[in-house]
Amino acid sequence: MLGEGILKGLAETAKNFAGSFVSKERMTTVEYPEERIAPIEAARVFPFLVYDSKNPEDANDWEAGMRCVACQICEKECPPKCIYIEKSKDKKPDYVGKMQIYPARFDIDISVCMSCQICVEVCPFEAIKMNNEFELATEDRFGGLLLDRKELSKSNEYYHQIHPTEAAEVDARLAEEKIKADAKAKAAADSAAAKAAAAQEATKPAEGEPRQ
Ligand code: SF4
Ligand code: SF4
Repeated sequence: MLGEGILKGLAETAKNFAGSFVSKERMTTVEYPEERIAPIEAARVFPFLVYDSKNPEDANDWEAGMRCVACQICEKECPPKCIYIEKSKDKKPDYVGKMQIYPARFDIDISVCMSCQICVEVCPFEAIKMNNEFELATEDRFGGLLLDRKELSKSNEYYHQIHPTEAAEVDARLAEEKIKADAKAKAAADSAAAKAAAAQEATKPAEGEPRQ
């Protein structure tokens, strides 16, 4: 029906207005910044890069555990082109232990980002997620809103704090991939060992045959 959406919206507003006199649940605004509403789990503002903490005491823990492998898919897909990535020259192990390149530079210009979450959806490595931090106002119009890889990096524990359901699903998916990767690596190692043993057997002199 034409205008059904508008009527539903008005009904919700009226319900909240009337309900706010009797129930705190219906109070949809508060006197910010003195009062704050805890962000809901689905809230999303700007992206952040997830790292798996290995040694929280280490100042470079965020860099060592970065999930991003600088594949640049997010950079290509970002509609307003506010992601800038430079690939590393060397490699480091990813979450399944495979050696991968990583972003030597990863910047997001949050003055341009439109919070569409496309970067999150296209990332094959669960490396970029949406943060719910919104108090990012700064007087530095340019540098202050251009976040580099260190500023963007947040631990998986932080991800669990802000989006617990989603983070648990991601962990389960990654654990499953790790099991598959380990099984594949073990099968490859077993096959290589079997081939080496067979080759060694083939070079052995037959019984009764004089040794060379
Ligand atoms: S949320 Fe959208 S606009 Fe922002 S960096 Fe990701 S893809 Fe780009
Ligand atoms: S965040 Fe994901 S999609 Fe973007 S470069 Fe890193 S691994 Fe690739």
